[in-house]
Amino acid sequence: MDDQPLKGQKALVTGASSGIGEGVARALGAAGAAVVVNYVAKPEAAAKIVEEIRGNGVDAVAIRGDVSKELEVEAMFAEMERTWGGIDILVNNAGLQRDAPVTEMTLEQWNTVLGVNLTGVFLCSRAAARSMIRRGTRHPISRAAGKIICISSVHEVIPWAGHVNYAASKGGVGMFMKSLAQELAPHRIRVNSVAPGAIMTPINREAWDTPGALEKLLKLIPYGRIGLPEDIGKVVAFLASDAADYIHGQTIYVDGGMTLYPEFAHGG
Ligand code: NAD
Repeated sequence: MDDQPLKGQKALVTGASSGIGEGVARALGAAGAAVVVNYVAKPEAAAKIVEEIRGNGVDAVAIRGDVSKELEVEAMFAEMERTWGGIDILVNNAGLQRDAPVTEMTLEQWNTVLGVNLTGVFLCSRAAARSMIRRGTRHPISRAAGKIICISSVHEVIPWAGHVNYAASKGGVGMFMKSLAQELAPHRIRVNSVAPGAIMTPINREAWDTPGALEKLLKLIPYGRIGLPEDIGKVVAFLASDAADYIHGQTIYVDGGMTLYPEFAHGG
């Protein structure tokens, strides 16, 4: 098997200075892609990841940009266009939570989560699609004109009390992705999602950083371990490659079985 299936391709990963985005950026770099590490905070973390990706002998740059702001997204893609001439792979990973019971949730908490997790996905996908359509198919670099991959969540389908903004945003990503896949297929742009279960990152630290919390969490994971950013990175690298050329409009759950309703494992 080709160990650098993404050689010659240019990728942009949003929110790549930590957690899953970092794992995805590293996996794409290891698969041979040049990578833009987008970040909004912690420039030093982004710079370190860029250095390490370059260690694979591929190009990498860090570009600051808030995915919820139209002008910043446009500026980021313009910079990528100037530097590398276009984009082959977009990974919409940036996301956040602002949790509260619905009766106490502020409009700001609602808008912040929808703004990053859903509007950010729209703004980045729109900019990437324009560039991919303009360039057309990339044979022999790739059979597709481009690949757009959204990092959704098991909460695309599992309701989550106390997190209505987050669950609504991820449910929205599900239909956005499918509608976009339908719309962009004639341009040979493949669009898919990866929906992680519980992955050990800063976003959910309180769910795994004490033995008690971890034990409770593991009850929700039939496979019996918490996920790691590289578990997601490997699947994204596969989905971006020609090995996945006939996968289009799908959400791939990477969750150790979290969506299997483990409460029913012994008859419910
Ligand atoms: P994380 O907090 O480490 O990563 C989120 C990243 O997004 C951070 O680097 C943050 O700086 C960035 N970000 C936030 N707002 C941004 C903005 N406006 N513009 C650009 N970047 C921004 O957490 P993570 O777990 O790595 O989350 C990554 C994605 O995975 C999110 O979309 C999250 O919803 C999803 N996810 C995570 C889990 C999990 O268990 N960790 C499960 C399901 C889905």
